[in-house]
Amino acid sequence: MRILVLSDIHANLTALETVINDADTVDAVWCLGDLVGYGPYPNECIRLVSSLPNLICLLGNHDAAVLGRIDLDTFNYEARSSIQWTNTNLTPESIAFLRNLPEKKVLQEVTLVHGSPRNPVWEYLMEKNNARENFDYFTTRLCFVGHTHLPATFILRDFGASVDRKVFHTDEIEFLTERMIINPGSVGQPRDHDPRAAYGIFSSEDSSWEQRRVSYDVKHVQTVIERIGLPGRNSLRLAGGW
Ligand code: ZN
Repeated sequence: MRILVLSDIHANLTALETVINDADTVDAVWCLGDLVGYGPYPNECIRLVSSLPNLICLLGNHDAAVLGRIDLDTFNYEARSSIQWTNTNLTPESIAFLRNLPEKKVLQEVTLVHGSPRNPVWEYLMEKNNARENFDYFTTRLCFVGHTHLPATFILRDFGASVDRKVFHTDEIEFLTERMIINPGSVGQPRDHDPRAAYGIFSSEDSSWEQRRVSYDVKHVQTVIERIGLPGRNSLRLAGGW
């Protein structure tokens, strides 16, 4: 199966459409959460994601906050006011879709979460140390995460004694042969100073992974964010990828 793996769309429909076109035909889609928040197209993104083939979609922290399941005080000003705007603009269909999202999905060889296997909605996997601890919280060989908006892969080494962190080159095929935690990066708000939308293609037959980036019309999304009156930083950061 050729599987599109994406995360952190954050209501950026233009980036999402570009990624779906760029990915071409896939057999299944794994969406690792945060469909909404920051961006201007929450309903459109939910509608498009829910139409994708053999979809598995997880709950992110922004999705949970929009549903009132996370205290808004735990978010910074931009995130909080975007969540409030999203909350008042979601359709009943969108709310129903978000309500049904699971926090974790365990398949044959793969675990899927938004944040980390230890704390599926909240924990950020940035450092080798907390990645090392998290290998004890899932039993499959591979785990896919999002949440940090940074494409990166943690590889368990030395019979579990240490962890390497790698950023795979874009458009190169890697074979995921060891125990690994893989983050495809963010579709709608990359934070590695590369403004292009990030995602990956996983082939389940040979466990191959292709990290991909694609440029989209950032200017258009910025114009809509400004017109709606969402925080200016939400627009600014898209151009710089931060
Ligand atoms: Zn996010």
